[in-house]
Amino acid sequence: MHFKCFYYIYILEKQKPHWEIGVKMTDRNNSILLPGSMFESKGGWISDPQFMEVMKSSELLAHGLGKPVQDACTSFHVKSAADYHVWVRTKNWTSWWTDRPGPGKFILLFDGQAVETVFGSGSPEWHWQSGGIVHLKDGYHRLTVHDLDGFDARFDAVLLTTAEGHPGDIEILRKSLLDLPPKPEFKGRYDFVVVGGGVAGMCAAISAARLGNKVAIVQDRKVFGGNNSSEVRVGLGGRLNIGKFPSLGYLLNEFGPARKGNARPADIYEDDKKYEAIKAEDNITMFIGYRVTSVEKDGERLISSVIATNVDDYREIRIEGSLFADCTGDATLGVLAGASWAMGREARSVYGEPSAPESADGITLGASIQWYSETREAPVAFPDIDWGLPIDEQTVQNARRGQWYWEVGMRDDMISEAEKIRDYGMYVAYSNWSYLKNHSRFRDEVANEEFAWLSYYAGKRESRRLFGAHVLTENDLRNFVEYPDGCVSTSWYIDDHEPDPDNAARFKDPWLSRGRLTPLDYYPIPYRCLYNRDIDNMFMAGRDISVSHLALGTVRVMRTCAMEGEVIGMAADVCCSNSCLPGDIYPGHFDELKALMTKGAGDPGKPYLQTYTLIDTTAERSENC
Ligand SMILES: Cc1cc2nc3c(=O)[nH]c(=O)nc-3n(C[C@H](O)[C@H](O)[C@H](O)COP(=O)(O)OP(=O)(O)OC[C@H]3O[C@@H](n4cnc5c(N)ncnc54)[C@H](O)[C@@H]3O)c2cc1C
Repeated sequence: MHFKCFYYIYILEKQKPHWEIGVKMTDRNNSILLPGSMFESKGGWISDPQFMEVMKSSELLAHGLGKPVQDACTSFHVKSAADYHVWVRTKNWTSWWTDRPGPGKFILLFDGQAVETVFGSGSPEWHWQSGGIVHLKDGYHRLTVHDLDGFDARFDAVLLTTAEGHPGDIEILRKSLLDLPPKPEFKGRYDFVVVGGGVAGMCAAISAARLGNKVAIVQDRKVFGGNNSSEVRVGLGGRLNIGKFPSLGYLLNEFGPARKGNARPADIYEDDKKYEAIKAEDNITMFIGYRVTSVEKDGERLISSVIATNVDDYREIRIEGSLFADCTGDATLGVLAGASWAMGREARSVYGEPSAPESADGITLGASIQWYSETREAPVAFPDIDWGLPIDEQTVQNARRGQWYWEVGMRDDMISEAEKIRDYGMYVAYSNWSYLKNHSRFRDEVANEEFAWLSYYAGKRESRRLFGAHVLTENDLRNFVEYPDGCVSTSWYIDDHEPDPDNAARFKDPWLSRGRLTPLDYYPIPYRCLYNRDIDNMFMAGRDISVSHLALGTVRVMRTCAMEGEVIGMAADVCCSNSCLPGDIYPGHFDELKALMTKGAGDPGKPYLQTYTLIDTTAERSENC
């Protein structure tokens, strides 16, 4: 049992706790809601908000790579002794793909006494699983959640209630049972509010702040960097300091990692350097661990504020602004504001692109759940699982690293099925590794290899794209159609992915991909792709800018995304100086933006640390890129 839980019980006996939520009774007499993200000690469980848009909560995940994680525990107060129904919101994550009971199982203990139910069973969708009845006396109690297998058990809340019937909607329960303020807390008014703290959002915020604007940046994860953070571990691709405005890019050089590579040890991605870069800017207020969940508008076409929800305690804040930037990757801000969007491959007839399919098919670039093993001095075991994919001698991958081409979900919906896609990525990694270690002809070779890291974060390449005043297409790129508002230069080929044909022939849901590369010159992306055509005060930077599916294949690499951010930060400054909107800059104030782009927002005097990963023009699938 975890020491921290005893400590909290002791403290709670001394003070009146905010946890005495059992007294907040509404129509559900004697109901106590215990969200996992608010547990006093999470032990080895990870609190993860990445699927909040769909499942409405942060989940606690027991990501132990096959070794049970340390218990999570919390104390709570019961006002009057009674028999309480126990409910846990959970899912059986592997039951999409196997009829076996599968992993992801856990139990609950009240004051050290286990209830009989094993949780994590039933539907693969989020549901309330009943845990029977427990008698609780009045006073303080301790709840422990004990992981049984280390294979990604999950829950988002435990409900104890004397009411009969199904618990219902988690958001309604939170509103009625947690001590949440009735209104979002006002956190100020800003010139420029950036939503999303990947490299695009970071550059947007710093660029505007250095020009004297008051900036807020809202980031749902606890680290900056998006796919380039230690959570996802994608190396920066593309080139900086090229094209018409070669000073663009010094900014990312200031905080971009000095080393390269995908799926490497955490320190390569230098999370701290990114955090310090934002912290060093006096004009930036950061809201870390807050996810933008709704917007307020002034009429149809202007955002007036964003509402962000704390990903641990669900308290809301309100941030007002004059200008906003959607740097969420998933176009979440734009979608919340009612902007139109596209997802998946367009039909050839839409933009006349020669490489587009005849009909729209919804296929996107996939998500990768990267992983690696490490060599130990002695043999290391891995569970011989009976719930995995049917891997055999023909399909087993003798791999030590799950690189970019371990790619899933291309045929699925990258938003509504995001968790299933992430789970499938983990499922294939476990399935292959288990077969490789325990049965394959390579098992002696990998005897000393330990499965050391598997991302629990779905590294996405594509989901929703927003529309700007111009939509960049394959034709613009291949015919080098140069527009007068060209700004950030691309430096990557059109790097489209498709399921690996062999893998797709053997598995219903393919999990390996291959690249299809179309060579390109460095191309200046029009400024008009970086602001929204439906929402007048909203910019975009990153993978949700105004491009076709095919054009995304070049603009999506992170050094290009970062320079887009740098430019929209400057454009926000031009808007503030002239009291105008993003759509007024071209052509009216474009010379002012040009002057800023010529200078750049970064410091050219800083050591130049970027190690370029040039595109591999053969699209070779190598563990070492
Ligand atoms: C395996 C893999 C390999 C790749 N290879 C390369 C490569 O070699 N080189 C390269 O440069 N690129 C590569 N890419 C592509 C690249 O990583 C993405 O295109 C890029 O990260 C997109 O940047 P972004 O800033 O738009 O999104 P992200 O990096 O995803 O950043 C968006 C940020 O916004 C936050 N956010 C989202 N919604 C909200 C909200 N509502 N409120 C607050 N915050 C929010 C997210 O947590 C995230 O931190 C690869 C991608 C993958 C998955």
